[in-house]
Amino acid sequence: MEPRLKVATCSLAGCFGCHMSLLDLDERLFDLAERVELDRSPLTDIKELGECDIGLIEGGVCNAENVHVLMEFRARCKMLIAIGACALNGGIPAMRNQFALKDCLEESYLRGVGLVNPQIPNDPEIPLLLDQVHPVHEVVKIDYFLPGCPPSADTIWTFVSQLLSGQPVALSYTQIHYD
Ligand code: SF4
Repeated sequence: MEPRLKVATCSLAGCFGCHMSLLDLDERLFDLAERVELDRSPLTDIKELGECDIGLIEGGVCNAENVHVLMEFRARCKMLIAIGACALNGGIPAMRNQFALKDCLEESYLRGVGLVNPQIPNDPEIPLLLDQVHPVHEVVKIDYFLPGCPPSADTIWTFVSQLLSGQPVALSYTQIHYD
């Protein structure tokens, strides 16, 4: 039996919907489990990232912790794959980019409806927000981009199967069109 590839996944500024789509592989997860071993991932709850063959990144980059995690994934994973619209172009979290960060914070924490003792959180343990939400390729080199919100389980399966068998990645139009 061939050694299994080590795969890590993370969610930066995302909603975990792309991870849910991964779980939608359903019984195909058994096939996958024979070929890959999960390292750090919300699916394993392993916190420390080891040396990996593949890193799957969900979500864009909205704070200092996201930058740190993404750079660690780039350093420890031979191949990085951006999965989903948030990782590819910032997605829904990037809708705040058209406003100043200060205005976003004030709107949420000072002017929101029903707030009691309104104040902008400033605990030092809270990761520092970036002025803008960035797609992951603006921070590190990405080897593959898998579009969709989220990519369907079938699209993920086609992609992963081709990748693991060493074939060139070729997705059909119907698997990546969203018009
Ligand atoms: S691409 Fe869509 S499903 Fe994936 S994290 Fe972003 S909002 Fe969620």
